Amino acid sequence: MKNITFINNKFVKHSNAKISIEDRGFLFADSIYELISVFDNNAIDTDQHLDRLESSLKEIKIKYKFNKNKFKKVFEKLIKVNNVINGYIYIQITRGVAERKHEFPKNYSPTTIVFTKHLNIDKKIYKNGVKIITIEDLRWLRRDIKSTSLLPNILSKQIAVEKNAFESWLIDDGVITEGSSSNAWIITNSNTIITHPANNKILKGVTRETLIKILKKNNFKIKEKPFNLIEAKNAKEAFLTSSTLSVLPVVKIDNYNISNGKPGDVTKKIINLYNDYIFKNKSSISKELKIA
Ligand code: PMP
Repeated sequence: MKNITFINNKFVKHSNAKISIEDRGFLFADSIYELISVFDNNAIDTDQHLDRLESSLKEIKIKYKFNKNKFKKVFEKLIKVNNVINGYIYIQITRGVAERKHEFPKNYSPTTIVFTKHLNIDKKIYKNGVKIITIEDLRWLRRDIKSTSLLPNILSKQIAVEKNAFESWLIDDGVITEGSSSNAWIITNSNTIITHPANNKILKGVTRETLIKILKKNNFKIKEKPFNLIEAKNAKEAFLTSSTLSVLPVVKIDNYNISNGKPGDVTKKIINLYNDYIFKNKSSISKELKIA
């Protein structure tokens, strides 16, 4: 199977795509990224991801000739040549190669890479739900920037895995902010859906944004407000969202069962609504994924 990657304006064999050891992305994590899901050959919410990419570039002050249409053409080509049916597009932009000094180089040419991956997520996790643990949020205070500086995220995810959990939900000042690589949601006993407000304390997930629109359109009660661990453990249902996972039921928080340890009915409705959105006009696939 072909595996072509885009690096600094060239399409090359993935194994030939190389960057310098003096690239600031490698030395300092002086870089930002995006990940766009591909379902059934279709990139999901491309515009929203590219808008966030542009905003991350601005926030970390990388000077870049940003061209949305050019990126879209690169994505289309990679999906086609690499035959990505289900998977993702990964984009990373760094402040380029320069002598190792903390301050920005006077002149630099940013490094851009775009590659694709195939992904086959085990459907069982949607039927059974997943366990999460909670852990202190040790990240910096610009979590709204999609930076590749991800050590606290990596370390907290590793602790989850070592405890046989799927994800860590991070606690900052008594409040659950988000997961190490996903947004966190609870549903109260009065069917109000709650997720942390989109400020500097979380990454404003594209899936989160799309889901809020879908939920509002379908008359769900939704509140973007902080919630704590007690509220989470007393929740009727819980779930998480991300581009690769879409909407995934959470059935255990630390050692507390949520909705009797099974995905709840409201979460199942939400999963079906989100799947209808990503597979719009492709009803056969959307039916196959329906959760009864
Ligand atoms: N929060 C964090 C910390 C993440 O890493 C991710 C996934 N990249 C998300 C939230 C979800 O964002 P999205 O829905 O845009 O994938």
